[in-house]
Amino acid sequence: MTQTLLITGGAGFIGANLVHHLLAVEPEATLVILDKLTYAGNLAYLDGALELERVAFEQVDIADFEAVAGVFARHQPSGVYHLAAESHVDRSITGPAAFVQTNVVGTFNLLECARQTWIEGDKTGRFLHVSTDEVYGSLGAEGAFTEHTAYDPSSPYSATKASSDHLVNAYGRTYGMDVVITNCSNNFGPYQYPEKLIPVVIRNIRDERPLPIYGDGQNVRDWLFVEDHCRALHAVFARGESGRCYNVGTENEWTNLALVERLCDLCDARLGREAGASRKLITFVTDRPGHDRRYAIDPSRIHDELGWSPTHTFDEAIALTVDWYLEHLGSMWGL
Ligand code: NAD
Repeated sequence: MTQTLLITGGAGFIGANLVHHLLAVEPEATLVILDKLTYAGNLAYLDGALELERVAFEQVDIADFEAVAGVFARHQPSGVYHLAAESHVDRSITGPAAFVQTNVVGTFNLLECARQTWIEGDKTGRFLHVSTDEVYGSLGAEGAFTEHTAYDPSSPYSATKASSDHLVNAYGRTYGMDVVITNCSNNFGPYQYPEKLIPVVIRNIRDERPLPIYGDGQNVRDWLFVEDHCRALHAVFARGESGRCYNVGTENEWTNLALVERLCDLCDARLGREAGASRKLITFVTDRPGHDRRYAIDPSRIHDELGWSPTHTFDEAIALTVDWYLEHLGSMWGL
């Protein structure tokens, strides 16, 4: 039987990359893209996908139960990849309410519609919830998050993601729903709205504007190329054990300062500038409140159980990403 896959947040950064990936690896599947099209969603990211007969688009707010129920009734999905979320930590500090609505209430609405369709109805389906390593809080200089690390979120963003993870697990245990969760590290690659670190820095380097870095620049993140992440999501959806969560990361830790310096050097080479020119634009700004010091993922489970590992090296992926933004900042966002 052919699958109908509902992809929430499919017009966002990771969602759009996932749509392109699924079109390639699931040639028989019908894809239903559900997205509210907030500032972070953009139909241009879906280049060509929307014209395909096996792709449908629904502009829906997941916080609106009736609207979500309508999507389930119309399309009867056999699987959900749930990515829709408010995702920017800084925005969650200045305006947390939208994060509770989308990340908590919206996830609840999707679970409830899935339960009514699959548990009370005569269909079956799998619910993959895409979450973050930020639910685990901050690490010291050593160690890495495993799937057994206790949840300890620091920001309204990570607290709402943690809440939604608990709801997903509860639907698995209470109703026997087939659920899987992924907790990944920071993604980078094409289609990321230019408010996040990497696209902001590339844009500012291009424009020779200051490169703001929080605090002392020594916060550490484990950077994951979005295409490798999409392959991980597909592997978990296809072969992950029901009720299990999988951490996704590539053991690729960078301090923010070292990463920005790397971007400076790559852009200088691309833009024909003198070596070291853009590093002079680095500016340290007051730290974000509740800023976690270090995240690192232990990806042993997804590697050992599902055979997933990244196929891109960081060097090739970051170079490709720099080229993509220098080429698309204007056409994609008018910047
Ligand atoms: P994004 O902000 O780029 O995209 C989010 C998408 O969700 C947008 O298209 C937006 O329009 C849509 N959306 C927001 N609110 C909605 C609502 N109420 N109803 C329907 N659609 C709505 O985010 P992203 O970076 O692509 O992240 C996707 C998922 O991955 C999120 O759940 C996020 O928490 C998680 N995640 C992201 C990262 C990362 O580095 N980007 C890391 C870990 C986890």
